[in-house]
Amino acid sequence: MTKDIPDNLIRRTAYPDSVSRAVVTPLQPSVVYASPDPDTLDSQYDGTAFGYTYSREGHPNATVLAQKLDALEGVTGGFITNTGMSAVTATMFGLLKNGDHVIGGNQLYGRSLRMLSQELPRYGISHSLADPTDAKAIEAAITPKTKMILVEVVSNPTLRVADMEGIAALAKRHNLILVVDNTFTTPRAYRPFAHGADVVIHSITKLLAGHSDVMLGYVAAKSADHRAAIEGTIVTLGLTGSPYDCWMAERGLMSFHLRYDRAEENAAELADHLAELGAKKVLYPGRPDHPDHNRAGALLGPRFGNMVSFEIDGGRKAANTLTRAMPDMAFAPTLGDIGTTVSHAASSSHRGLTPEGRTALGMSEGFFRVSVGVEDIALLKAEFTKGFAAL
Ligand SMILES: *Cc1c(COP(=O)(O)O)cnc(C)c1O
Repeated sequence: MTKDIPDNLIRRTAYPDSVSRAVVTPLQPSVVYASPDPDTLDSQYDGTAFGYTYSREGHPNATVLAQKLDALEGVTGGFITNTGMSAVTATMFGLLKNGDHVIGGNQLYGRSLRMLSQELPRYGISHSLADPTDAKAIEAAITPKTKMILVEVVSNPTLRVADMEGIAALAKRHNLILVVDNTFTTPRAYRPFAHGADVVIHSITKLLAGHSDVMLGYVAAKSADHRAAIEGTIVTLGLTGSPYDCWMAERGLMSFHLRYDRAEENAAELADHLAELGAKKVLYPGRPDHPDHNRAGALLGPRFGNMVSFEIDGGRKAANTLTRAMPDMAFAPTLGDIGTTVSHAASSSHRGLTPEGRTALGMSEGFFRVSVGVEDIALLKAEFTKGFAAL
């Protein structure tokens, strides 16, 4: 036995006392928290004392991040989950049961659609899809078993704007839980709780964290009963986000407003530039030729967002030519990165549909969606000019 190893090496020690404090939120990776005695632990679990226990049940970095998102959304008690999809999972599995029916927007995020069509049916939960730009279509889908409506404010990738006022009114009238996935719009453009939503979901992965280096989700509910049910599902199914990811997302969130404003400004200019370059169709809610331009203006403040879609002729061949001619624009199936990314519905988000199914939604082989970033607009325009020149 060597004698020079200190006996207390595995004792965890506190930081030295310091009269100055860290400027940056500390990263707290501890999985477990030590309480002074069983009485205190009891009071932590029954809620009379606040204290962390086991990080699947919550940890300081999740609390700090959730409180910032709560402030943005105008709510309290939101939860951080390890992906946007786990926020959807927590909502569905927490609030629905065998026999229930849910109505989804017909252009929901692809994995949310699969949740409704492939996962929930195995647990006896049925669904219908309806066009959220038409509140009457949503209302017509209501059955005696309907319990919830799940909508996104702006659809992906055709950027149609839902009739949020009409849907909120009918959700109230029929006593249905209105769940709004606010990922695309962000609280910069729309705050669903101020307009009748019961539950708000985010993929933090996208614009909120904003650097494509962290996956997280967020879910908040207005009612304490919904909150308790969602929390139970998160903790039991193991959907909690990790401290490191929360810490990274908090860092990203600090520049969210700046990134959003710059990206939105760029998007408006790029949309016009694409039209000038001769794109067959340009979709941007801020353009007067967008089918939902007026509604977008009224609903979103007008904050028309950082997403622009466009269409070119020439099928898959032209689509390949365009992305190859713009190697600095990451061709990647995501959105909300600090840099511009270009995605192609037919080979990614909507590859599961038949060509006819895609055409019905207005997405040909030449249909692209651009998540506009914060680059210098001159560079951005030059890049697309180069892409179109190659066609
Ligand atoms: C990306 C996204 C999700 C899923 O989020 P992940 O973090 O990728 O799991 C859900 N809804 C919308 C609208 C999204 O864009």
